[in-house]
Amino acid sequence: MRSKHLCQFVVLGSKGDEYRIRFDLDNGVLFTTCTCQAGPNGSYCKHRVSLLTGGVSDLASKNSHELALILPHLAGSRLKVALDEFTEAAEIHDTAKRRLDKAKKKLTDAMFNNRVADG
Ligand SMILES: [Zn+2]
Repeated sequence: MRSKHLCQFVVLGSKGDEYRIRFDLDNGVLFTTCTCQAGPNGSYCKHRVSLLTGGVSDLASKNSHELALILPHLAGSRLKVALDEFTEAAEIHDTAKRRLDKAKKKLTDAMFNNRVADG
């Protein structure tokens, strides 16, 4: 296995913990690791997903420009396909969540006042 280090980032977790995210190439194939609990367990890691979708608000290291190093290795990869699928599903989820919240509010209002609104 020929491994090449690409870049590394430090992100702040929700409880103020710092996590280290690495991007490496294994025989030209991009892979990424995170030091959070989810990382080694093979679970969904929001830190890596956030970075891969351009989210830098939790970035503690001052090297967001290095995210550009990842992009050429993402193109055409299985990770990119999965990431696109995730992004699309997340948008549908967010839209559905907003609609549900609005419907809940309307339903709650109607439970207090069941008269048909004028406009
Ligand atoms: Zn993580």
